[in-house]
Amino acid sequence: MEGREPWRLKVFWMVDDKRADAKAPFWEQKTLEEMSSAEWESLCDGCGRCCLVKLEDEDTGQYYATDIACQLLDKESCRCRDYANRQTVVSDCVRLTPVEARTLGWLPPTCAYRLLAEDKPLAWWHPLVSGRAETVIEAGVSVKGRVHCSETEIAVEDVVDRIRQWPLAWPKKAKKPPTR
Ligand code: SF4
Ligand code: SF4
Repeated sequence: MEGREPWRLKVFWMVDDKRADAKAPFWEQKTLEEMSSAEWESLCDGCGRCCLVKLEDEDTGQYYATDIACQLLDKESCRCRDYANRQTVVSDCVRLTPVEARTLGWLPPTCAYRLLAEDKPLAWWHPLVSGRAETVIEAGVSVKGRVHCSETEIAVEDVVDRIRQWPLAWPKKAKKPPTR
């Protein structure tokens, strides 16, 4: 068409969807590495699943979880009884970092760190989403009431008998919010 430029300059910006929404909560805006330590700690839903004794098949590398608790796990609160000094008592307790969140094969599939590392959303029952710590219990994700005993209360040869599927699985009721 006469008198009109045959083309116009258009500039397209690549916008990361996560960062585009300023109202989105921090776990949707930031990478694991970008979170403050307070934000990082708040991701833990307090389920206690990672504090159950795990076994690894040396031949296959497959992990199995038991319903036996670490000696420092408080079965009522499902929290560590000495979190600040835990590694002086339990030397192999892992300090979770973004790298571990992406690589540890035994992290429960419901774990917030694992979910975010896999670019999945936090579920309805996560306290940061629901606003209530109790929803972790209501969804069947917490170990509360499901721990058989502490690791100090069972013979090593009996540990294998306590292998359970549930610590490494999504409870049915955790998948969808309850209808009211
Ligand atoms: S499994 Fe994950 S969310 Fe649950 S207590 Fe352990 S670190 Fe926290
Ligand atoms: S030392 Fe504390 S945080 Fe570590 S596995 Fe045991 S209860 Fe969990």
